[in-house]
Amino acid sequence: EPLRSLILAAAGNDVIRRAVARSFTVPGARRIVARFVPGETVADALAAVRALATDGRYATLDYLGEWTRDRGQVERAVRTYLRLLDGLAEQGLSGHAEVSVKLSALTVDGDPALASLSLGRICEAAQRCGTTVTVDMEDHTTTDSTLAVVNDARRTWPWVGAVVQSYLRRSETDVAALAHKGSRVRLCKGAYAEPGDVAHSDAHAVDLSYVRCANLLLEGGAYAMFATHDPRLVGVLRQRTRWYGRRPGTYEYQMLYGVRPDEQRRLAAEGETVRVYVPFGEQWYGYLMRRLAERPANLALFLRALVSR
Ligand code: FAD
Repeated sequence: EPLRSLILAAAGNDVIRRAVARSFTVPGARRIVARFVPGETVADALAAVRALATDGRYATLDYLGEWTRDRGQVERAVRTYLRLLDGLAEQGLSGHAEVSVKLSALTVDGDPALASLSLGRICEAAQRCGTTVTVDMEDHTTTDSTLAVVNDARRTWPWVGAVVQSYLRRSETDVAALAHKGSRVRLCKGAYAEPGDVAHSDAHAVDLSYVRCANLLLEGGAYAMFATHDPRLVGVLRQRTRWYGRRPGTYEYQMLYGVRPDEQRRLAAEGETVRVYVPFGEQWYGYLMRRLAERPANLALFLRALVSR
């Protein structure tokens, strides 16, 4: 836990950010990044979707970026999503992929009006292409504003996906409001360093909360998107989905690109819907740090690659 907090703190430090960015020129370090991020361009993202589709996996594509500082950057992010959605349609891949967005990349200084406007442009394009959009959840200071923007967007595009993080103490209340038929909800543990008064720090409490939230989603008839690599949780979820009489296709499993790919393929081969979160773009730093914080063994690999150049 202390190491996790340290890595997440480093994620916000500009000096460390620059040092790690420089390390991208080191081949070994580049390989570690490439394990989690298939590339920097729209073409790289589309190639990843095609590769996943060959063994029946679906994708949700995330153009990397967060906490944007100016409108120009927001515009670039929106346009990249529009090009991505056009690409999916042109290549006949709309049925295989949706997109994930972070509102902090689609607005400046948390302005909710700009966030809604940018999200709306992306939703319109997604609708045209016959696919969907899920709005990632960021740290707890943004939970209320993110849910407000999602609920607003759902009035026009009811399929907009929301995300609930089971580590937050408030999550069962949030899930109860989202757990209705037709509501697409991704359930994850949560990836940010949060204070103890808002989030459980005990891993077991996070797991118990996850299962309680999952039950609420299944019971309420929502389209649940179970985002976890935790084998014990996946075991419990497989049992709970059966108990609620859910057939594959009325819920799905989600995992990150490069994490437990064998398990992804195994679940897909057994008939489960499996969607892989595929991040792409130049701004991979914050994303990579959260992945390293989840599994210190990844950090060891990364550091070893740096010193053995
Ligand atoms: P953990 O207990 O962390 O891990 C269980 C096991 O999975 C580990 O023992 C290990 O074997 C494997 N594993 C987990 N992570 C890694 C890794 N990085 N590298 C290698 N092995 C690993 N978080 C948010 O806060 N907001 C979001 O919007 C969000 N969206 C997500 C979308 C998807 C599709 C996924 C899969 C995760 C998302 N997350 C999000 C991250 C999530 O909250 C967790 O931080 C992350 O999934 C790790 O938790 P876990 O459930 O896999 O369980």
